[in-house]
Amino acid sequence: MDLETVVAYRRAATRDDLALAPGERFVAGGTWLYSEPQVGTTGLVDLTGMGWPSIEERDGGLRIGATCTIAELVAHAAGAAWPARPLVAHCANALLASFKIWNAATVGGNVCRSFAAAGMVSLCATLDGDALVWRPDGGEYRRSVADLVTGNGTNALAAGEVLRAIDLPAHALGARTAFRKVALAELGRSGAVLTGRVDADGAATLVITAATERPTVLRYDRLPDAATLRRAVEGVTGYYTDPLGTADWRRAVSVALLEDVREELAA
Ligand SMILES: Cc1cc2nc3c(=O)[nH]c(=O)nc-3n(C[C@H](O)[C@H](O)[C@H](O)COP(=O)(O)OP(=O)(O)OC[C@H]3O[C@@H](n4cnc5c(N)ncnc54)[C@H](O)[C@@H]3O)c2cc1C
Repeated sequence: MDLETVVAYRRAATRDDLALAPGERFVAGGTWLYSEPQVGTTGLVDLTGMGWPSIEERDGGLRIGATCTIAELVAHAAGAAWPARPLVAHCANALLASFKIWNAATVGGNVCRSFAAAGMVSLCATLDGDALVWRPDGGEYRRSVADLVTGNGTNALAAGEVLRAIDLPAHALGARTAFRKVALAELGRSGAVLTGRVDADGAATLVITAATERPTVLRYDRLPDAATLRRAVEGVTGYYTDPLGTADWRRAVSVALLEDVREELAA
């Protein structure tokens, strides 16, 4: 859509270009930004000119540049050898109308939009994704993607901070994974996404996204038994109600589907 308040657009090419003037904000793929009015935004700073590599292999892990498109990540994973690769396509397909937006929507944009039903947040929270954030003063810091997202549509990024990349560590890429999703409509936005992984040393990570306002990450030294997991999932706080499902429904489907994930990982 036309953003009628926007009067300036510039394409950032260097880190200095990322300093935002009043009224400016970052744009990556623009699939959300151009989808609704952005009252108060007068200028756009395009991150896609930064030239960040989309995918880099480092120390057995993967660095995903923030401007990597979801389509690029899916294509890379399809040809990869690491055991966790099927989770990438599952999480990308968890996005509503994914085929329409994959080629433009970026991994960083999905994380920074921070919707509860953000498929790339599901992926990164499950694979211990570590966000590298650039501060406007030239500094940087790291925070897990699971902690970066603070609510349905909110995150811990301060004004002017830019997500540079997400690192997925080798131990998570080497894990066995499982995935379940439910939505009220067949092609609708996810009401609950349940994911899990078991590492080579047996440690288990079970994750709830889309059903809770922010990622819920449950960690165990070994896969828990069914009763232990059920108690944990029932006790989670943050299930929410919106037109796509009630909090009680989200809790109930999370209990049932995370048990499916546990059983698949135990097999
Ligand atoms: C048909 C359709 C279906 C959709 N379905 C879903 C869905 O199921 N789940 C979902 O989560 N979203 C969905 N979206 C919203 C959106 O398309 C996705 O979240 C997408 O991944 C956003 O990525 P983008 O690169 O287009 O971000 P943009 O639209 O460019 O930016 C999104 C926000 O993130 C900020 N931003 C982008 N990159 C960075 C960065 N590197 N550092 C700091 N800030 C940054 C921008 O300033 C903006 O506020 C949908 C959109 C459409 C049109």
